[in-house]
Amino acid sequence: MIAVRVRAPHSLEVIEADRAEPGPDEVRVKVSSAGICGSDIHILHGSNPFAKYPRVIGHEFAGTIAATGAAVTALSVGDNVVVDPVISCGHCYACRVGRSNVCANLEVLGVHRDGGFRSQVVVPAANAVKVSKSLPISVAALAEPFSIAANVLVRTGCDERDTILIYGSGTVGLTVLQVAKLKGARVIVADPDKRRLERAEQFGADRLLQSGKDDVPASVAGENDGLGPTLVIDGAGVPALLEEACRVASPAGRIGILGFSPAPCNVSQQEIVKKELTLVGSRLSRRLLPEVIGWLESGQLKPEAMITQTFSGSDAKDAFALIEQAPEKTVKVQLDFS
Ligand SMILES: [Zn+2]
Ligand SMILES: [Zn+2]
Repeated sequence: MIAVRVRAPHSLEVIEADRAEPGPDEVRVKVSSAGICGSDIHILHGSNPFAKYPRVIGHEFAGTIAATGAAVTALSVGDNVVVDPVISCGHCYACRVGRSNVCANLEVLGVHRDGGFRSQVVVPAANAVKVSKSLPISVAALAEPFSIAANVLVRTGCDERDTILIYGSGTVGLTVLQVAKLKGARVIVADPDKRRLERAEQFGADRLLQSGKDDVPASVAGENDGLGPTLVIDGAGVPALLEEACRVASPAGRIGILGFSPAPCNVSQQEIVKKELTLVGSRLSRRLLPEVIGWLESGQLKPEAMITQTFSGSDAKDAFALIEQAPEKTVKVQLDFS
């Protein structure tokens, strides 16, 4: 049994780990597939403001129930599950209004608590979501990143009347693209990297813009009967793009912010009022994994091609080195702990 731990910033190690027994309301999951996320890289670099060290990282993982606590009735040994990494208190204001992802007492597995990059992990039973045996477990492990995309589109609203501009064609942009296509929207993706744009095309983007080469604001001005995009998603986290988003958005447009930059930005108040724009932040997901799993099980989402490389859990250092040294070759790198 092993675990992948960040001992301190810039120090990743694979350690021998003990097997913990689940408490009454917990289950022990034998982890099969776990995806590496940008926020894992941030914890490794010491740039995640929430992480405490040492920390077993990993929050995108799926596996099989190996043991259940005495009070657990909804899950059985042998069930395949995806784990929702968001643990919330259930009684603060955010929880009471259904926004458990911004709970005042929020804890995220792999950030505030030890996470899923390990052979076996004990989690609250309420966070384990059962998946069909017919769904490949590596695909099930993509449910968490898709729940991030689902959450921002719940916050902004999204349907077939929308023309969406997505800034960034990395994992976040590609997942938002696929959920937006499922909702019937027209989707434009802007990214400086041609290879990343080709991936967006592969996942159904209607139009591609190469930022830096194409003039993005001028290119989208004619969209939506000349009013501009109805919805802009900032998956890049660049303050200047948020300013641009407010300029290019259509009247009654919405802007979904996923980027996590601490830098202030110069958004025009006039732009927001004149067009009655709605700007919303989106963090993690509010219990949307069951809905996403439904899309995966029914084949409405077919994201297998997002998994670009798989490494054994014991080779985690090589996986992180690849993402750091050749990010253009990767979309989702997964670790296999089975
Ligand atoms: Zn993530
Ligand atoms: Zn709460």
